[in-house]
Amino acid sequence: ATPMSIMVASGKAAHIGVLFRNAEAIETLRKVDTLVLDKTGTLTEGKPRVTAIKSYGIEEARLLRLAASLENASEHPLAAAIVAAAKERGLGLLPVRNFSSITGKGVRGHIDNATIALGNNALMQELGIDTSSTEADKLRCEGQTVVFLAQDNALLGTLAVADPIKATAREALRQLHNEGLAIVMLTGDSRATAEAVASQLGIDQVIAEVLPAGKREAIEKLQQAGHVVGMAGDGVNDAVALAKADVGIAMGTGTDVAMQTAGVTLVKGDLNGILRAYRLSEATMSNIR
Ligand code: ADP
Ligand code: MG
Repeated sequence: ATPMSIMVASGKAAHIGVLFRNAEAIETLRKVDTLVLDKTGTLTEGKPRVTAIKSYGIEEARLLRLAASLENASEHPLAAAIVAAAKERGLGLLPVRNFSSITGKGVRGHIDNATIALGNNALMQELGIDTSSTEADKLRCEGQTVVFLAQDNALLGTLAVADPIKATAREALRQLHNEGLAIVMLTGDSRATAEAVASQLGIDQVIAEVLPAGKREAIEKLQQAGHVVGMAGDGVNDAVALAKADVGIAMGTGTDVAMQTAGVTLVKGDLNGILRAYRLSEATMSNIR
């Protein structure tokens, strides 16, 4: 492409809320045949809300207070939902010592004299806790995310969190599919939750329960199979995958790290931006051939 046509394309793109980092991003986007999408914050609004609380042997308020106290130090979207739920109920937070966050799994710390852990199945498994008797599966089949709270290796309860799917997502994906792109969901969330969301969006390929390093490996595998891969994400945990993809696409509503690593930023985080960017890339590159 000539520098001039690239400049014109960038200008047009900026008007429609699509920021290209460089000419290479414009040139490569049209070659993408597989579009990988992170779930939370990319396909969903990233504004989850606590929808159900179930405690075992303690009061629900106590469970929520413990959970929110831990999450207060976390930057995960789930954390914001849990802290907000505690605030809505007027619950004060407890001091936490030795806080640590376990990427893609949850958070942990000391409250009073107990070790409290909050996170997914994988985290509970590490603690030797069996979650099979909970209602987790039923909630997941509704597309909700389930996290468990444990105190000193005993399960104290579950919290369900729902994050609405972006209003424009389904139609944008349908059109991208019509353009000939294969659509893949890639998420750290459980398989059951991921599949429930995917089926609402007409996505047939789901890679779930992956850690951030696994997201990068998943992109690499697709590339090794001969695909040109676009990856859209919003989180800190997506950054390595965005960097690995042939074209990384960041949600402008997401984290700075994601935007710094991506070749394309969608200002409003609207998936229609991917479609517009793709069509612009095609138009620009075919004009100058
Ligand atoms: P995604 O790929 O959907 O952005 P992540 O890799 O960030 O997901 O997280 C994967 C899973 O790990 C979450 O669905 C959740 O169950 C658990 N998890 C991660 N961070 C936290 C946290 N701060 N609090 C509770 N659970 C968490
Ligand atoms: Mg995300």
